[in-house]
Amino acid sequence: HHRLTTLVDTARFHAEHQPDTPAVICGDTTLTYAALHSESDRTAQALRAAGLTAGDRVAYLGKESERYYEVLFACAKTGTVLVPVNWRLTSPEVSHILHDSGTRLLLVEEEFRPVVDGMPATPPEHIVVLDAAEGYAAWKAAGTGAAEAYAATRDTPVAQLYTSGTTGLPKGVVLPHRSFFAIADAMAEADVDWIDWRAGDIALIGIPGFHIGGLWWATQNFNAGTTVVAMPAFDAAGAVELIHRLGITTACVVPAMLRMMLTRPGVTPADFATLRKIVYGGSPISETLLEQSMAVFRCEFAQIYGLTETGNTAVCLPPAVHEPGSPLMQAAGRPYPGVRVQAIDDHGTVLPPGAVGEVCLATPARMLEYWNLPDKTAETLVDGWIRTGDAGFVDEDGYVFIRDRIKDAILVAGENVYPAEIENVLEHHPGVAEAVVVGAPDDRWGEYVHAFVVPADLGGEPVRARDLHTFLTPRLAAFKLPAKYEFIDHVPRNPSGKILRRELRNRFWDGSDRKVN
Ligand code: ATP
Repeated sequence: HHRLTTLVDTARFHAEHQPDTPAVICGDTTLTYAALHSESDRTAQALRAAGLTAGDRVAYLGKESERYYEVLFACAKTGTVLVPVNWRLTSPEVSHILHDSGTRLLLVEEEFRPVVDGMPATPPEHIVVLDAAEGYAAWKAAGTGAAEAYAATRDTPVAQLYTSGTTGLPKGVVLPHRSFFAIADAMAEADVDWIDWRAGDIALIGIPGFHIGGLWWATQNFNAGTTVVAMPAFDAAGAVELIHRLGITTACVVPAMLRMMLTRPGVTPADFATLRKIVYGGSPISETLLEQSMAVFRCEFAQIYGLTETGNTAVCLPPAVHEPGSPLMQAAGRPYPGVRVQAIDDHGTVLPPGAVGEVCLATPARMLEYWNLPDKTAETLVDGWIRTGDAGFVDEDGYVFIRDRIKDAILVAGENVYPAEIENVLEHHPGVAEAVVVGAPDDRWGEYVHAFVVPADLGGEPVRARDLHTFLTPRLAAFKLPAKYEFIDHVPRNPSGKILRRELRNRFWDGSDRKVN
């Protein structure tokens, strides 16, 4: 088995060994491995012609397309660093990313030009419009001639992704080539097949490529020489149609995408007959949703848990552990070979099995640093361990159970209440489609648990607060019970499927944890 060292090798190796295999399919466009290599060579030349050299930042603001992956490999080949930008962001948010990263060249889709024009800060030195007549295609066509690819190593930075900012101002997470190889290598060496990439796989990328989950999934498939199917933006109907039409065999999605696909009217297991494996993660999944998904998709499931800072997944719940009713179905997974996990208390002391603390991960796929933030880097990356900010515990067998974000914990009379636990139990009630709980100010107890509930459409009377209270009372300790229920139409989520808890929480607080009256 040939061992690739960097993404530079990936492009070259598959162009040589399987030039005609499709590397990326997006809409009507198919890019073979030969084309991915030659087109990214052109883009690399155009970057050089624009004066960019190793270490320079190249930002990409556009929907998922084959061009995104050309630019990724062009960055690898020039030693420049790709800064993917979430296209749902506003001008001030984009401005922060371009400015903070020191982006010299921005590739942007026409649709998002107004976002760039509206930025408070000066725009980058070079702007190339991806889909304009005299834009990217013409710019890259001028980049002729051959040049030696940059001599990248596994330590060379290749991508700088901004954390989604659900817990503060987005930070630039600098990832080297190693982040895109270490876990798959470790599994191959240890002969572990929790997640596997087989020749002939057609892999749907559900999690967008500007997010670490999507970028990781795409690169894993490229490294293996399989085919990646990208959608400009995820939509459930489109995904179901693509799976059927292209015979998709694997997919990487967030739990919210599973929910959207399986609640589509008329969807049956036959729609997913070609799927052999679903890799899911990025946010907690309820047991109900996981069991429903297994019943409809009827393929292997593997859960991944990790952060942008850990180069995506550090922990995996293998397919073999996916047995409805098993307590392990509530685990996020166990570390891959070569990865270590522990929970620590407020003083940094390692906790015994079962005790809840901050989950820490030591993984070879971890980030190099937060860009330009040495103090934040030192807080998060301690002696090779990434502090995740997640509350959880490790059991006797090494399985990790994630409670929730430490910052999302609700403090009720001195007791920590983790929203995911309450939401999970609420979603067991048939009248509940989705639930989100947040902490709201309480004069006596500091905070009380406030539940937002999207009622399930069962045809009859929608579920009432009283029913939910009766349902939860025997299942949860009294201090965890929601004091109020509020019924809503939908749960606000960011594009990577994370609940925008702050948005709901801020209704009760002024943002500084001072109560709003
Ligand atoms: P920010 O730090 O700005 O909020 P972000 O943390 O949302 O950004 P990511 O790095 O994508 O950006 O998110 C990592 C977090 O996602 C983890 O810390 C964890 O809370 C959550 N997460 C990821 N996978 C899982 C999973 N399988 N189960 C539970 N939570 C998960």
